[in-house]
Amino acid sequence: MIPSLKLVNPKLNCVYSKVLQMVNYTLWSNIKGLFASKKNGRKVGHIRFKGYGWYNTLNYNQSGFKVDQDHGILHLSKIGDMRIKIYRKIEGCIKAVIIKGVVGLDVGLTSFVVDSVGNEIENPRCAKQSSDKLARLQRKLARAVRGSNNYKSLKDKIAKLHKRINCQRDDFLHKLSRTYVNNFDIICVEDLDIIGLKEKGHNNGMHRCIHDASWSKFVFMLSYKAQSAGRKLIKVDPRNTTQRCSACGSIVKKDLSIRVHECPYCGFSCDRDYNASRNILITGMEQPVAPIELKPLHHISVVQVLAMKWEAAPFRTR
Ligand SMILES: [Zn+2]
Repeated sequence: MIPSLKLVNPKLNCVYSKVLQMVNYTLWSNIKGLFASKKNGRKVGHIRFKGYGWYNTLNYNQSGFKVDQDHGILHLSKIGDMRIKIYRKIEGCIKAVIIKGVVGLDVGLTSFVVDSVGNEIENPRCAKQSSDKLARLQRKLARAVRGSNNYKSLKDKIAKLHKRINCQRDDFLHKLSRTYVNNFDIICVEDLDIIGLKEKGHNNGMHRCIHDASWSKFVFMLSYKAQSAGRKLIKVDPRNTTQRCSACGSIVKKDLSIRVHECPYCGFSCDRDYNASRNILITGMEQPVAPIELKPLHHISVVQVLAMKWEAAPFRTR
C-alpha cells in the first residue's frame, strides 16, 4: 500500500522507504500478535490509531544510515547528518538504528500535563462522579446512629468508594506514564522537590493536596518505568520555566492569570504551559530545540488516556 499512499500524501516521500516499511511491519506484526492471542483464547481488544504526536519512532532497518564513530556523526538518509554522543565503541555490524523522541512535561492545574510535542492532557476528574456519591454517603453517615448496623455498612461503603477513586486515579497515571515511557527515550520533568509548587497555582487546600500527590506519583511511575525500559528521566530545576521565552531565552514576567506566553523580544507566542514544557525540555537537554507546534494544542481527554492499552514497545533489542 505504501506506493499508493505516497501518491495521496506526497509528504511520505520525505521519509526513507525502509522507515515506512518498518511502520507497516510493526502494524502487521501487532495485528498478527493479536490474532494469535485471540486464537489462544485470550481476550484481546482492538488496535488503536496512534495519532500525530504519539508516534515518535524512526526505525532504520539494515540500510539508510551510517555511523562515523571517529567524528561522532550519524548520517540518516532523507534527514541528514547529526552529531551524536557515543558512549562506548561500537563493535561489529550495526543492523538497525532506532531513533526515539525526547519530550518535556509540564504539570499544571488547568491541565494535568502539557508536553513539548504539543499534547495537552486534561486533569483526571474521573473522581467527580464518585466524589458526589462520596459526599452523599458522608452526609448519611453523619446522620446515622454511631455503632448501628447502618453506620457500619455506610462506613464500609465509604471505604470501598475511597479505594475505587484511588484505583481510577492510579489507572490514569499508570496509562499516561506508560505511554510516555513507550514513546520517548528521554523524558524531562520539573524537579517537584525543589519547586515548592509556588508558581503552580493558588492554595486550594484539599484539592491541591490530591493534585500534588498525583504529580509526585506520576513522576515516580515515570521514573521506575523509565528505568526498567532503559529510558532516561531527567529532573530539571523548575526556576523560570514559565517565565523564560522558549524561543529566545528572555525572561518574560507573567502572573498566574496570564495563560498565553507572548514574547516582546522575539515575537514568539504560544500557550503558557506549552512554553514551560519546551523550557523544561531545553534545560534538560541543555541545547536549543526548534519549536514543533505553535498552534492550539492537541487536547487529550481522560477518557482517551483511560482507553490506552498497556502496550509493550514493538521492538526490544537486547
Ligand atoms: Zn522570545
